[in-house]
Amino acid sequence: MRIDAIYARQSIEKRDSISIESQIEMCKRAADPDAAVYRDAGYSGKNTQRPAFTQLMDDVCAGKIKRVFCYRLDRISRSVLDFSLLWQVFDANHVDFVSVTESFDTNSPMGRAMIMIIITFAQLERETIVGRYTINRYARSNAGIWAGGKPPYGFEIQKIDWNGKHQSILSPIPEKIQVVQDIFSAYTSATVSLYSLAKQLNRKGIKFNDDYWNATAVRRLLKNPVYVCADVDIYSFYYNNAEIINDVHDFDGSHAAYLTVKGGKSSAGHRTLSLAYHQGVVSSSVFITAQNMLSQNKQLKNGHRSSFTWLSGLLKCHKCGGRINVFQNKGLTYFQCYKRFHQAGSCDAKIHGNSLRYESYVEDAIQNRIDTIVKNNSTEDVPNQQLNDMKIQLLENERQINNLVEALKIGGAAAMRSIQNELQALEAEHERITNEITAMQPVHKVPNGLAVIDFAKLDYDSKRDVARMMIDKILVGDDSPIQIIWK
Ligand SMILES: [Zn+2]
Repeated sequence: MRIDAIYARQSIEKRDSISIESQIEMCKRAADPDAAVYRDAGYSGKNTQRPAFTQLMDDVCAGKIKRVFCYRLDRISRSVLDFSLLWQVFDANHVDFVSVTESFDTNSPMGRAMIMIIITFAQLERETIVGRYTINRYARSNAGIWAGGKPPYGFEIQKIDWNGKHQSILSPIPEKIQVVQDIFSAYTSATVSLYSLAKQLNRKGIKFNDDYWNATAVRRLLKNPVYVCADVDIYSFYYNNAEIINDVHDFDGSHAAYLTVKGGKSSAGHRTLSLAYHQGVVSSSVFITAQNMLSQNKQLKNGHRSSFTWLSGLLKCHKCGGRINVFQNKGLTYFQCYKRFHQAGSCDAKIHGNSLRYESYVEDAIQNRIDTIVKNNSTEDVPNQQLNDMKIQLLENERQINNLVEALKIGGAAAMRSIQNELQALEAEHERITNEITAMQPVHKVPNGLAVIDFAKLDYDSKRDVARMMIDKILVGDDSPIQIIWK
């Protein structure tokens, strides 16, 4: 009875692939449950001198193996010549070969035809990895260094010896870094505007470089990746709008990053992101939450603001679904159906009482909702390593797709058909990984910090922001209770 074999390999630098355990995990989904596992930790794919691999080939020749599974072809071999020799051994022993992420199986005629094409790409890729590594080292030796100028808030310049030269790096000032972390956590808890954050800091007597804080200073600080622990998520975040100097594998979540803009302001200039020498002080998830909120905030600012009630904008007439007018009388705020007063006869909804009643009702409902969500959302974090691996795999898959697209451009008509098939398979794989990542990621319905909110105690702006974040609309009318439609 022949069995399945799973082969996993990872080289010492760990920069060329996902972890051995994740490789095995992926193969297990495709292989028989009793598959034998062969692991080579710390061996490169440049040659075949690897203990587990030698054992595997012995077992293949002894007729014990039915199919060989690996996460990617280059786990078996990075050399075209080696692989074509190995393939002859597999073939002679009627062993099929399955690469689980490249969606091909030598059991199929197409799989066989694909072998040489993929092997060529594997070779190509190894060459690019070598090239990139050299560039990296160059970049790293330069980019970790502070380019000069006034250090960002929270840091001072420290001189170090670098290849015999005096160079500057950023060194954190602990009590100021604490302020930075407080600003990030206060902002992402969705309860404060930039303006009120600045006000709070000034009230506490905290100085911004011998000056007072203002909304712009807070905004700039929140946007600066010089504070973030740069991991794969940060890499992806900047992927489309900056040139990233370092390799994705260097984004291991420990170092911070510099974002520099050359030749023109903000969006017009050429942006580069490079890893810094110093360690990050804010987690990537908090940082990205802040970026998303900052861009949302920008949109909100342009919207119409009513100073009468934080419910405005959310209220709709229960009867006609139309907008609600807000007006003031003797210091109290009242509502009326817009149509009822402006298009006589089209709606007859009467809305009783002043805004206080509605506000306190919505306040209670929001507090209940927060409590429930927080209770049901006890943060069950996915193993970080596994998620990071999946993301790296996704980026590698994207790179393979790009490779194939390039090959399609230059390849002749004959190559066309098979490459197109492979492309389809890669795209299907892309979708699968994306779905898996989505399923693995904890759903953050609740922004960080919402757990401790006492909604009734928030200020006007914060109540409005939280309400808009959670509520789609609130229906009000005379013959029905207030009805909240949640997002
Ligand atoms: Zn109405």
